[in-house]
Amino acid sequence: MLNFELYNPTNLVFGKGQIEKLSTLVPKGAKILLAYGGGSIFKNGIHEQVINNLKGFEIVEFGGIEPNPHFETLMKAVDVIKEQNIDFILAVGGGSVIDGVKFISAAVNFDGNPMDILQKRLLIKDLSKVVPFGTVLTLPATGSEMNSGAVVTIEATQEKLAFGGSALFPKFSICDPTVIESLPKRQLQNGVVDAYTHVLEQYLTYPHEGYLQDRIAESILQTLIQVGPEVVENPKDYALASNFMWSCTMALNGLIQKGVPSDWATHMIGHELTALYGIDHARTLAVVGPNLYRVMFETKKGKLAQYGKRIFNLTGTEDEIANEAINKTVEFFHTMGMDTKLSDYTKDFDKTADFIVDRFKERGWLGLGEKQNITLEKVKSIVEMSY
Ligand code: NAP
Ligand code: FE
Repeated sequence: MLNFELYNPTNLVFGKGQIEKLSTLVPKGAKILLAYGGGSIFKNGIHEQVINNLKGFEIVEFGGIEPNPHFETLMKAVDVIKEQNIDFILAVGGGSVIDGVKFISAAVNFDGNPMDILQKRLLIKDLSKVVPFGTVLTLPATGSEMNSGAVVTIEATQEKLAFGGSALFPKFSICDPTVIESLPKRQLQNGVVDAYTHVLEQYLTYPHEGYLQDRIAESILQTLIQVGPEVVENPKDYALASNFMWSCTMALNGLIQKGVPSDWATHMIGHELTALYGIDHARTLAVVGPNLYRVMFETKKGKLAQYGKRIFNLTGTEDEIANEAINKTVEFFHTMGMDTKLSDYTKDFDKTADFIVDRFKERGWLGLGEKQNITLEKVKSIVEMSY
């Protein structure tokens, strides 16, 4: 097992009715920026619940953070924070609002051009320089409520870039599973597949000697397979909703990543597909992931075979099980309503692979994955295979 440090300071407040605790979680006397997305929180009553539980606090609202949040929009919130002397941010939304708030938090006191945080992938570690924030999660998927990473799109250059650092953990996150009742089916499906892929990015890696991490990862996969198809049909079922929400948080709160290598190439290629064609994040992962496992078969087959045996009870030779495990994964994605080919989403796919390869080359990303052996040639094959 690799050496590791486990640091996760987020106070996760989980369960029905927990939004009531908001006023005890926000620092006393704080002037709050309430950040939200396109307005779903007004329709499903979450905005009202939040406001009712923040009586006595001064609140400035900032809405309009779009899915795959834009740098340009977030910089407007940075101005509001500076003008109005805000000292705490409350993100009320899904991964996009929470990620957006992480960027805002880092950008307010940043020395220099905040775009560098994204383009130079700077690590944000200095707690004295960030604006503290908490979250009320409205969409289980990303794990952003309990991790210190984020992804932001620069509209001007059509780049979707990841960043993060230990100063960017939320102070608290309220996870009330009943918020999923108002989610459209498409977003529930996305949540399951995003979380499932987060686990695979940390599990289908080699060399991997985290036996305990494997078992935890497998239990998250099994739980998502169990509850995923049902929760989409019945989001009001609290047992389904709570297990779905907790699985998503556990998939990317850092725990299963400790002591093992992780891949993330599916995400990096997927981000390009969102930046180019606006495809939902999770759906890009369903397009890329299986093809990545096919192209990287020789490196990953041992772990794919373990996954096939333990998750799908497959039998046969290592190669047979590993191959069938990829097919079973695609089948699960289909059950979750995903299209798994790029051509299902856009007619303009034919130059995508070259475009992505050129971009990665410009950024100096010559080898991705846990062994940095996903070369640009392999990236090209992975994307072309998805046509
Ligand atoms: P999202 O982009 O935050 O939200 C998708 C849509 O769902 C929005 O239109 C939103 O509407 C709506 N919505 C949210 N909660 C709702 C509710 N309770 N009822 C009805 N509608 C609701 O989706 P997401 O999948 O959570 O986040 C995706 C982003 O996170 C991507 O940019 C992805 O790259 C990133 N990501 C981050 C991490 C990480 O570790 N930080 C990991 C994976 C992915 P409103 O805008 O109107 O609220
Ligand atoms: Fe993701």
